[in-house]
Amino acid sequence: MKSREEIRNSISIEQGDITRLAVDCIVNAANRSLLGGGGVDGAIHRAAGPELLQECRTLHGCETGQAKMTKGYRLKAKYVIHTVGPVYSGKPADRELLAACYRNSLELAKQNGIHSIAFPAISTGVYGYPLSEAVPIAVKTVLDWMERNQNYTLAVTFSCFDERTAEIYKEVTGAEEV
Ligand code: ADP
Repeated sequence: MKSREEIRNSISIEQGDITRLAVDCIVNAANRSLLGGGGVDGAIHRAAGPELLQECRTLHGCETGQAKMTKGYRLKAKYVIHTVGPVYSGKPADRELLAACYRNSLELAKQNGIHSIAFPAISTGVYGYPLSEAVPIAVKTVLDWMERNQNYTLAVTFSCFDERTAEIYKEVTGAEEV
């Protein structure tokens, strides 16, 4: 059994563009259509090439909190897991839906034999989730899942587009209470 601290220490925080990461799988903060958008979604589609959109069309969308997988095409990552975060409303359901995005993505990764995964800060861009609320949910959900799935090796990276986001992740993963 690993301690919570060992699990916390195994998480990576990388500042930069998620599309450049050499991991098995990157997670896309998509919208329910799965047909592309702005922010990280646009960046992933641009880097992966038009075949990604073609495959996404066959998936017929995705509900908020759920996750679906495609190939990564021209990305270094072999797979993309598309998950749809909640649009921030300030209601308690936001938290559940955001946690579900992380949990369902991790489950899908495990089901597909993926051993490294990178997440963007889901819902914290256009969808308006404050970083101060979203990051603790992301970190806690991932740590809880890793604790429950210690028999499965999955390296998790939090991809942070800017320095401020990276600082918040570092603070939260360093805190003993998560
Ligand atoms: P959402 O609609 O879920 O809010 P956004 O793409 O607008 O999704 O933003 C989610 C997060 O992804 C934001 O923190 C944003 O800064 C970040 N982001 C945007 N582009 C990239 C990228 N290329 N790599 C990593 N993170 C990114």
